[in-house]
Amino acid sequence: MTESNSLQVLLVEDEANIAKNIAEYMEHKGHVFDFAIRGDQGLNLALENYYDLVILDLNLPAMDGFAVCRVLRKKADRHIPILMLTARDSIDDKVSGFQAGADDYLTKPFSLQELEVRCLALSRRYGLQTSEELKLGPLVIDRKRKSASRSGVTLAVSSMGFKILAILAEAYPQVVSRSELMQKLWGDEPTESDALRSHVYQLRMVIDKPFAKPLIKTVFGAGFTLAIDEE
Ligand code: CA
Repeated sequence: MTESNSLQVLLVEDEANIAKNIAEYMEHKGHVFDFAIRGDQGLNLALENYYDLVILDLNLPAMDGFAVCRVLRKKADRHIPILMLTARDSIDDKVSGFQAGADDYLTKPFSLQELEVRCLALSRRYGLQTSEELKLGPLVIDRKRKSASRSGVTLAVSSMGFKILAILAEAYPQVVSRSELMQKLWGDEPTESDALRSHVYQLRMVIDKPFAKPLIKTVFGAGFTLAIDEE
């Protein structure tokens, strides 16, 4: 992510006309595009290259947008912003899209101007993550020094606690499931299910106990997220 408003975008779309319209408009605005037609191609490109953003169609050959999204969230080592495109406009699809890990959603037909505005907003939101410092309300995470502070108070987080906090902050406002956290912390190594619980407990003792409101929120049946508001 550069300072300018030029985005490196991966567009995964099987309808040639739509892909052409998007690319013409966006390239004219100075954005740079890579293209994939099939879901599996898009997934591989997204894992192999750096993009500020992925525009992902829902109905795709070989692997649909939901599946691409889910695998990207599991395998990518950073939170890649994903804008999902769909021809449908049902609540179910929106819920599934967000559960699969999309950051935003646009229903066809949409205006190209609207698309660009959403893309810029998403990349701004997540562009913060490529810098060393990540700020979310009262929470500041320093990736280089592996330290964190809340409302100006330095937190004595363990290295595992720091990793958990950074994963939750990078995904914010998305909920991170227990299995996703375990995958990111321990990969495919078998881990005792109590290990995560104990690390989250210890992190809460450091980050939440001294403060009036908890920052780490358990979403029943879904996982964890951060409750960010200004302090
Ligand atoms: Ca399609």
